Formats: sequence, structure tokens, C-alpha cells
Amino acid sequence: MPQERNYAAPLSENKNLLKWVEKMSQLTKPDSIHWVDGSAEENQMLCDLLVAGGTFTKLNEELWPGCYYARSDANDVARVEDRTFICSLSKDSAGPTNNWVEPFQMRKKLKELFNGCMKGRTMYVLPFSMGPIGSPMSQIGVQLTDSPYVVVNMRIMARIGMAVYKEIDKNEKRVVPCMHSVGMPLTGGQKDVSWPCNPDKYIVHFPETREIWSYGSGYGGNALLGKKCFALRIASNIARDEGWMAEHMMIVGVESPQGEKTYVAGAFPSACGKTNFAMLIPPKGFEGWKVWTVGDDIAWIKPNADGVLHAINPEAGFFGVAPGTSMKTNPNAMASLSRNTIFTNTAMTLDGGVWWEGMTDEPPAECIDWKGNRWTPAIAKETGAKAAHPNSRFTAPASQCPTIDPEWENPNGVPISAFLFGGRRPTGIPLVYQAFNWSAGVYVGATAITSGTGFACRGL
Ligand code: PGA
Ligand code: MN
Repeated sequence: MPQERNYAAPLSENKNLLKWVEKMSQLTKPDSIHWVDGSAEENQMLCDLLVAGGTFTKLNEELWPGCYYARSDANDVARVEDRTFICSLSKDSAGPTNNWVEPFQMRKKLKELFNGCMKGRTMYVLPFSMGPIGSPMSQIGVQLTDSPYVVVNMRIMARIGMAVYKEIDKNEKRVVPCMHSVGMPLTGGQKDVSWPCNPDKYIVHFPETREIWSYGSGYGGNALLGKKCFALRIASNIARDEGWMAEHMMIVGVESPQGEKTYVAGAFPSACGKTNFAMLIPPKGFEGWKVWTVGDDIAWIKPNADGVLHAINPEAGFFGVAPGTSMKTNPNAMASLSRNTIFTNTAMTLDGGVWWEGMTDEPPAECIDWKGNRWTPAIAKETGAKAAHPNSRFTAPASQCPTIDPEWENPNGVPISAFLFGGRRPTGIPLVYQAFNWSAGVYVGATAITSGTGFACRGL
């Protein structure tokens, strides 16, 4: 047995980071501190811990190698936009579609909430890079979290660990501090639950000081702070100051039969199929064409020295909606999630696999639904119960996507030739239409609306 390292020993020499970790641990009062190194051994240790605590179930290794299954609290199943706050100094700069609270007032509230909120838990120090490590287009953050589930998900969604401490220790880039707690301290020997969270949730951003404070949720974009909180909301502020853009866009490379490749970025709100679009297989009539995947959710776009817009995908994984994903609708997503993937709130089959509505033509004769109840097609017919939650997700490494673009980790990004704007509109408007000039195009893009569950999560 290799000796376990002393997790409490700091892995960075950066004085500001050490001081901040100390200050935050005094506020949140965890039982212990764990500096995350990002290694495979550490990841295994954390997965074992999650299995022992009942958060994770290890899936059938033969059918789903390296995969784990989690079931969340029934009240912690999606991003909470109405509990998301942009606490800019002026109300105006929060933008018309965001909730604003005066920053001083919010800081006071957060101090109360975070005081002792990690009692009985471990505080993980999780350094992450959004974008390839060392890329001039990347940004660095450190998330302090009391959720090991968040750590193992972030290991897929971002670049984390030792290489990031190295970047931080160079002292060249500003580090975005990200505080996260599930908001359920374990005091007086209280027993933990499999999905700790708090009914009171706060997802807070201070754009001027580039801070993120998230309380009460362990789910998705509420808790994996590199994604929406940093890569969209804080990054769009950094971008505005520095002259670039952080957008809710997928990025694809379209290759013609002659081998000419054109990259386009596409803005579609949540739940409009960006992931399917990013992994498109050209239909009949487009033989010889190929679509390459760079990113499925977020694009950071910057003009290079020649003024040509270049984009990177700041993420390293897909946090995709499971229902509706199948070998028919998206075989590339199915291949991406076939191993080393975390499933949250899908159904679990009796042979230790996962299932969701739309995955196969025939549902399994029996499975366990996302709430942990026995589910059969007959029960579903009678009660309307879904096997998988409609927002159930897979967290899968982007590198496993068969169509991942060879340039997807190019530190300078890929050149962007066009932007698509779209939404989900089952009725009423033409499928495609063209703006007649740039101002009209900006107007059309800015006013595009969508049906369904998608919010126009404007990066502020
Ligand atoms: P998305 O958000 O649907 O916009 O990808 C999900 C999340 O991050 O929780
Ligand atoms: Mn999204």
C-alpha cells in the first residue's frame, strides 16, 4: 500500500492563497482541510469515501467502467436562477435580467451563513484552471468546498490539481476565490445524509472583486463554480474590462469533403440542445462532411494579434442533460459517457447500469428511479413517474468524445468565422432567417427567446 499523503499539508507557497485559506477556515470551521492534488489515487480515495457515505453507487464495472451514480436531494436538482445574485456596486451594472442585492448587505448575510457552516466536515482546497493550463486565454480559480462530490465532478469539468498550484505560485495571474458550502454543518455528532444541502440557497457573485460565494446546494452549476459562476458570470466581467467575451456558446469545427475546416460558435440558452449540436453527425445528403466538437456550453472569445476572433472552450468535460440522449440522437455523447462518468439523478438498472427516458426504444422492465423508488413502465403509466429526473445529468470527460477536435486544447483557441443564435421555438417562426445587416443581427441575437426550461443565462 502506498502511504497516504498528509492531505492537510498545503500544496502551494502562495502567501495570499495560504492566508485566504486560513481566514476562510476560521470562518467556516471545518474539522479538517484537504489540499486537492488532482491525482488518480486521490480521486479513487474520494470516490470510495462517497460510496461509503452513500452519495455514490459504483456502477457495474463491466457495463460502465469507472462510472458512479448519485441521487440528489429531491429539492436540489437544478440551477436556482431566482437564488442567483449579482452584487455589483451599482444595480445598473447587474443587468436587467439578474437579481441584485447591495454588496455590503449581501456580505453581511454571507458572513452569517458561512460562520461555522463546515463544522464536522472537511474543507477541500480545489485549484482549477478554466481553459488549458498555461494558455494565455485561461483563467485560474480556487474553490473551497465541503463537498467531495464537487471535487470529483470538477476533476472532470476543469483542469485541477498540482499543475494549477504551479501556475498560482508563479503569481502572474489573478486567482478568483470561490467559496462553496452545502450549508449543512454536522454538529454534536449528527449523522450525515447522502446528499447534504440546505433549503436556503444563495449563489452570489461580486463582479468587481471577482468573488463567488455559493451556499446551500451541491448540484451542477450551483456548486461546480468553475462553470456558470466563473466561466460565464465572473468571466464576462473580466472580459468586458479586458476586451474579450465570455459567452454561453458551443463551438464546432465543420470540415468540408475537401478538408477545409470552418469553426463556428453558437449561442443557445440552456436545454436547447447545444450538446447535441456540438456533436452533430452530418445527415444524409452531406456525405463527406464532418463536424468536430470543441465545446458544448461555454466559449471564451478573443481577437488575436491580427484581429481574428479565436475561441477556447474553458471546460474539460460535458455536464449534459441525460434524458433524450441515445445512440440515435447523439451517439458521440453516448460514447463520451460510456466510461469514467458520473451520473446524477438518472435511473439505475437492476444490473448496476443507468437508464433514462429516451435512452432506448424499450424501457427496462424494472429499474430504480431517481428518487430511489421501484419503477416499471406500468407504474409510470399509472402515476406518470419519470425514471430519470428531466434535468438528470452525466459528467463526462470531453477527451472521450469521438469527434473531439484535434485543436480543442490549442492554447490560442480556434478561429471563429460565424456566430449562430438560436433557441427552442416549436411554433411561430421560420426555422432559419438571416439578418440584413450587423445592427439588425445584434438586435435579432439579443432578443431571441426560447421555450421550455431554458433561461437566457446571460453571462451577466
Ligand atoms: P445548463 O446548466 O443547463 O445551462 O448547462 C446546468 C448546470 O450547470 O447546472
Ligand atoms: Mn449551459
